[in-house]
Amino acid sequence: FFPTFFANLRRPTPFCFKFRVRAMTSHIVGYPRIGPKRELKFALESFWDGKSSAEELQKVASDLRLSICKQMADAGIKYIPSNTFSYYDHVLDTTAMLGAIPSRYSWSGGEIGFDVYFSMARGNSTVPAMEMTKWFDTNYHYIVPELGPDTEFSYASHKVVQEFKEAKSIGVDTVPVLVGPVSYLLLSKPAKGVKKSFSLLSLIDKILPIYKEVVAELKAAGANWIQFDEPTLVMDLDSQRLHEFTHAYSELESSLFGLNILVETYFADLPSETYKTVTALKGVTAIGFDLVRGSKTLDLIRGGFPLEKYLFAGVIDGRNIWANNLAASLNTLQALEGIVGKDKLVVSTSCSLLHTAVDMVNENKLDKELKSWLAFAAQKLLEVNALAKAVSGQKDEAFFSANEAAQASRKSSPRVTNKAVQKAASALKGSDHRRAMNVRNRLEAQQKKLTLPILPTTTIGSFPQTLELRKLRREYKANKMSEEEYVNAIKEEISKIVKLQEELDIDVLVHGEPERNDMVEYFGEQLSGFAFTLNGWVQSYGSRCVKPPIIYGDVSRPKAMTVFWSTLAQSLTKRPMKGMLTGPVTILNWSFVRNDQPRLETSYQIALAIKDEVEDLERAGISIIQIDEAALREGLPLRKSEQAFYLNWAVHSFRITNCRVQDTTQIHTHMCYSNFNDIIHSIMDMDADVVTIENSRSDEKLLSVFHEGMKYGAGIGPGVYDIHSPRIPSTHEISDRINKMLGVLESRILWVNPDCGLKTRKYSEVKPALTNMVAAAKLIRAQL
Ligand code: GLN
Ligand code: ZN
Repeated sequence: FFPTFFANLRRPTPFCFKFRVRAMTSHIVGYPRIGPKRELKFALESFWDGKSSAEELQKVASDLRLSICKQMADAGIKYIPSNTFSYYDHVLDTTAMLGAIPSRYSWSGGEIGFDVYFSMARGNSTVPAMEMTKWFDTNYHYIVPELGPDTEFSYASHKVVQEFKEAKSIGVDTVPVLVGPVSYLLLSKPAKGVKKSFSLLSLIDKILPIYKEVVAELKAAGANWIQFDEPTLVMDLDSQRLHEFTHAYSELESSLFGLNILVETYFADLPSETYKTVTALKGVTAIGFDLVRGSKTLDLIRGGFPLEKYLFAGVIDGRNIWANNLAASLNTLQALEGIVGKDKLVVSTSCSLLHTAVDMVNENKLDKELKSWLAFAAQKLLEVNALAKAVSGQKDEAFFSANEAAQASRKSSPRVTNKAVQKAASALKGSDHRRAMNVRNRLEAQQKKLTLPILPTTTIGSFPQTLELRKLRREYKANKMSEEEYVNAIKEEISKIVKLQEELDIDVLVHGEPERNDMVEYFGEQLSGFAFTLNGWVQSYGSRCVKPPIIYGDVSRPKAMTVFWSTLAQSLTKRPMKGMLTGPVTILNWSFVRNDQPRLETSYQIALAIKDEVEDLERAGISIIQIDEAALREGLPLRKSEQAFYLNWAVHSFRITNCRVQDTTQIHTHMCYSNFNDIIHSIMDMDADVVTIENSRSDEKLLSVFHEGMKYGAGIGPGVYDIHSPRIPSTHEISDRINKMLGVLESRILWVNPDCGLKTRKYSEVKPALTNMVAAAKLIRAQL
């Protein structure tokens, strides 16, 4: 009944034959596409730049897919996914499959090619890209489908079948993976011009026929299993939405006949109502659960699991880089085996490995001990297989004891534990850490000291990161220049930036952050408890990847991190110079975090380290300190029931950093988003003196937020122009915008600043844009 796998044929496990035990099987939900050395990124960018051909790009992609396929087969994985590769994004691939191409891309029918596909992803000279948004609570971003009552669907991309056949051509029978039909609709938005109230789910009966065509073609190509990813199942769904799953799979049932159908859920527990619905889905023969994030799901399974179905147990964490605790997972699996039976249990990953780093083979800078604690995607394949074998009674003792030793060394290593830090962090719990005076009065006290004009102008921190700057830091890091040479070069850069801001007549200055490569890495490198990889890249969107630091131990700050540069910058000017820090929650959310203690413990530890820095800056005479919390919202749990708890400790962590400064020290924070509506109370609760936020794309949404902000009494700096675009805004345009804001906000609390840092822009854009910004502020001041 099961397909025979090439890999198994080629390398029979001697054990298996001797005892004739039926091996428990293994599965991988999905795999990183970018390649161990970001091969896909470079191939894509070279193609986009016109430096290589479509064929060259296709060749790189095909090589990557086949090598992943082989790697999984070699690791002994039985259910190997296909179609988890993507040239840009798997949701966009689904849009292409369904032919749901917005009309502005003037697609004329036929198989979707690179031109239409990349235009949707990135825009072209005449049409902007489709919107991109976060994929659940990960740092991956997907292209949001735009649908309406008039959207016509047709089977327009045969990618899934092609990739299935491609793998089959090297003898590997794969499990083709599709974004499930209901999740696809739930992740879409109404197209422009379509009423917001339009029910996207009403399109289900229009897309199911396409899904049926795809399934039929896969079946004809020899597929035995198909995986439908329905991660929206972990969200809070009302009964109507839930019913849509029942409806969709009943509708598909007859076409799914004769196939094994796996519905994958991931990123959280299933609510118990959802669990009931999912386990009862018609035509579905297997269900995958995230047992890393979804610890409560185990109880639901204990309460009952359908006899005839397979359970894919996601015990290997797809979202982090830690080696699995194999003994603990084995226990879980054995308990599950007791419920569903050996034949029906499959060992899997908690979610796609897309969200973890690719392969440790190239990490030759990490020490041996630390490496023994880690597993990237390639290493996780081996863990999955080792567990599957162990449940079948073929435990690889050497593999397990090495793992046990690593777990033990991680627990006891002095690099991990710092008793003093732990004590200080746990002492924080239960108190509030608020500044004594309320924000209105603090602002008054600060104003006496700072004597800023009304509508003060400032920037968010970074100035353009020129090629020369990048080269300078690189050479210093590679020991190609002395510390003195480096410091002098950075000093010169800072003094140029200070001078420029004085010429522009900006009121509150920044030093420009020329010494920083990245707002998290810069701090991580100076804190203890952090490690950095060479190639631990994770796809963020398209060809863009991030390389999160690894927080492996208790966090402390051996010495001041920014005081030298900030005081140097302040010494160059009479105007206030902002000290620039990254906040604890952002450092946490943009790192691979320890899994051996709750996230909030790590957050409090980082908060204490930042607190020391804040106080050192204050002592050194810096009177405005900005603590960026660009990623506070990113950590928001998916389920409503868990959000208040997160927001509470996240906001508390922020307050800890500055609860002890004098009333006259002004604390700013900056956030890279404007979608505050649901977390505005938490933002107020951060109790910063001034909040600068992104505001370039959603004026109307912000109005209500502004309104709340007035009650709060803090200063607010909604970005007056978009720094993500090279366009230079005119004075008129900016003053218009400020005027609109003044319609809602008291002039007393309004700040004038760009949307975000300027590091990705060129000086030829920054100079005129800031000139116009200052001119606009002056124009309006004169009218007030
Ligand atoms: N201070 C940082 C900068 O200006 C903030 C960046 C961000 O919010 N992403 O670059
Ligand atoms: Zn920002």
